[in-house]
Amino acid sequence: MIFDVLILGGGAAGMSCALVLGSAQNKPFGKEKRIGIVLHQRSSALDRAVFYNALGLEPGLLGKDILQKGADQLSKYYPDIKQITKEKVVNIEQNQNVFAVKTNKNSYFAKKIVIAIGPSNLNQIAGIKEFIIPHQKIEAVKERIQLKNTDHLVKKDMYVAGVLAGHRSQFAIACGSGAAVATDILTEWNHGKHTMIHDAID
Ligand SMILES: Cc1cc2nc3c(=O)[nH]c(=O)nc-3n(C[C@H](O)[C@H](O)[C@H](O)COP(=O)(O)OP(=O)(O)OC[C@H]3O[C@@H](n4cnc5c(N)ncnc54)[C@H](O)[C@@H]3O)c2cc1C
Repeated sequence: MIFDVLILGGGAAGMSCALVLGSAQNKPFGKEKRIGIVLHQRSSALDRAVFYNALGLEPGLLGKDILQKGADQLSKYYPDIKQITKEKVVNIEQNQNVFAVKTNKNSYFAKKIVIAIGPSNLNQIAGIKEFIIPHQKIEAVKERIQLKNTDHLVKKDMYVAGVLAGHRSQFAIACGSGAAVATDILTEWNHGKHTMIHDAID
């Protein structure tokens, strides 16, 4: 089985990306697309965070609860998205037009990937080292990294989202970045016609 898109990392950016992609599954261009997310959540910035300054979140919400609620929301509303839990990506290779993504337990194949694993220089995955540069918007002493990209695109079919894309570390920015990548992918699936997904009350 080959995923149409596989998201690597299930924090703020990765889960936001998955939610927006999932919300397009009843559109003609989103139907039957195989979407997956590697939800390794052991080293998320959300682990220790508590939120008072993020619009729409109940003040005092804990980041670790967002990790769980996000996965639950995905399961409940977009059950066709495959959640791959308790696996850590260790290697990415591209052969012709397919990415081979290796975790510590399995291998997966995908036409497009979204890398959203945060900016730690400890999270390095073989196969993306050529794109790594020092983070341009976090002070150098913290030794954070980002991937070189143009508007989230690292190279054809390889996207980066969240703080690893070079954004400052704020929850709303990371979520927005993941959502932006999702709409870029949806636009591609919709043959270049600019696309966004809005649910509305009748
Ligand atoms: C202590 C603390 C307090 C904060 N407080 C606030 C605040 O008050 N307001 C605010 O706006 N922001 C706050 N933030 C920042 C906010 O949490 C981050 O900006 C946001 O979570 C970044 O989203 P991200 O998706 O880029 O990374 P993350 O949310 O960190 O997600 C990255 C995900 O990738 C996974 N991952 C890592 N390596 C791999 C791998 N090899 N394979 C698979 N998965 C992998 C991780 O487990 C994690 O789930 C805080 C951060 C911290 C650390």
